[in-house]
Amino acid sequence: MARERLYLFDTTLRDGAQTNGVDFTLDDKLAIARMLDDLGIDYVEGGYPGANPVDTQLFAQDRKLANTFTAFGMTRRPGRSASNDPGLAALLDAKADAICFVAKSWDYHVRVALETTPEENIASIRDSVRAAKAKGREVLLDCEHFFDGYKANPQFALACAKAAYDEGARWVVLCDTNGGTLPHEIETIVGAVVKAIPGDHVGIHAHNDTEQAVANSLVAVRAGARQIQGSLNGLGERCGNANLVSLIPTLKLKDEFAKTFDIGVSDEKLKSLVHVSRALDEMLNRSPNRNAPYVGDSAFATKAGIHASAIVKEPATYEHVAPEAVGNRRRLLVSDQSGRANIAAELERIGLKVDRNDPRIGTLLDVVKEREAIGYAYESAEASFELLARRALGKVPNYFDVVQFDVNVEQRTNAVGQRVTVSMAVVKVKVGDETLISAGEGNGPVNALDLALRKDLGKYQSYINGLELTDYRVRILNGGTEAVTRVLIESRDETGERWTTIGVSPNIIDASFQALMDSIVYKLVKSGAPA
Ligand SMILES: [Zn+2]
Repeated sequence: MARERLYLFDTTLRDGAQTNGVDFTLDDKLAIARMLDDLGIDYVEGGYPGANPVDTQLFAQDRKLANTFTAFGMTRRPGRSASNDPGLAALLDAKADAICFVAKSWDYHVRVALETTPEENIASIRDSVRAAKAKGREVLLDCEHFFDGYKANPQFALACAKAAYDEGARWVVLCDTNGGTLPHEIETIVGAVVKAIPGDHVGIHAHNDTEQAVANSLVAVRAGARQIQGSLNGLGERCGNANLVSLIPTLKLKDEFAKTFDIGVSDEKLKSLVHVSRALDEMLNRSPNRNAPYVGDSAFATKAGIHASAIVKEPATYEHVAPEAVGNRRRLLVSDQSGRANIAAELERIGLKVDRNDPRIGTLLDVVKEREAIGYAYESAEASFELLARRALGKVPNYFDVVQFDVNVEQRTNAVGQRVTVSMAVVKVKVGDETLISAGEGNGPVNALDLALRKDLGKYQSYINGLELTDYRVRILNGGTEAVTRVLIESRDETGERWTTIGVSPNIIDASFQALMDSIVYKLVKSGAPA
């Protein structure tokens, strides 16, 4: 039987841009739009032309994209004609393939927020859809607060949706704007709507305020809706929108959906999902969520030794889908609970060929256990584990030695009478026969030490130029006077690869130094720097 087409609509650039701390530039928006296009998303909502300079510019140019590039905006204002509303005119003139109007569908909002009558609200929907159709645009209507509106006054909510459909809107999108509706309510209400409007003209737009935006989108499809709106990584106001990065693999890999529906994302493109998700984080300068379903670092990670030996024999024992399907990979975490199976599997992944019965595996396992007992946590610091493993096998050159370092923190009054705290670090490094002394000044001691350490590594400098610290986390373990400090440092290089290293010591500077050193040495090993 032929599968039915289910459409995906991305609103990362519009609803996602409402996220706290997110501020897309024009170039960001174009890059994300191209990425969504390449992934196979049917509709990309670019923004709100006329509302801000970036969106206005975005809709003024030819973007050369294959998807249906959509402009978002309001229906005509109450009490005005469609031809006499500058906001609507700007929207109609935008270079867009489709226009997505937002309109009220909750009578309470019409009365209180819009201060108009139910009849005028419906007339505004009709006039706006008609005007956009006349301009040759595909039209969508976002019915704001549809589910709350339906609960309060089903006739009115439905009349708003029906007005758009009758006027020729391609899609009527039911929005759970406050995000408080539960899956069983979504299923019932969408089921009622598709009796009046064919399901292949109905979309769902769910917010995540009860952590169910993905579930709400899936039940809406079960009830008959055929368009899902969402965003990459669930970006969006408050708790975010339905996460397309979680929805896409579920639609592709779970039989109930995969056997019934086709989406625009191919099996091949599904494998780029981890990359797409990380690329957005990169652009926003955020650390990827390790626990993200399907694409997170931990999504296919197994820690306990007994699970690990089963997983090596038969992955399906502990995995609901194959990690490779979404471009992720299986991780057998190395920790004090690990058995030889985890260690052997990790060595294989790193590319170190070692016989499973090699006694060095047992030695390495003992070292990991000893170090974890004093506070190291290799499951969160794969790069440090890799160095430990390579050293156990005698495969890390001694690139350089830090002969001495000195860090000082000084608080003083500056020239304009403000109290400032500055840090200085001086590092003496021996590279071959050469002794190099570098100084760094930073806003804190670790920052200063990092700058000094990476300033001049002589013949190795060119290998670490692209190295950058992206995250620094400190935890105090044990508490009390016996406390030790654990530092985790995340680094990144010019290829976009990220890695995490660890240091543990009663002294925070010393712990940070260890983690910084591991990061630099890891980068040298990775770049194939000669000994
Ligand atoms: Zn929204």
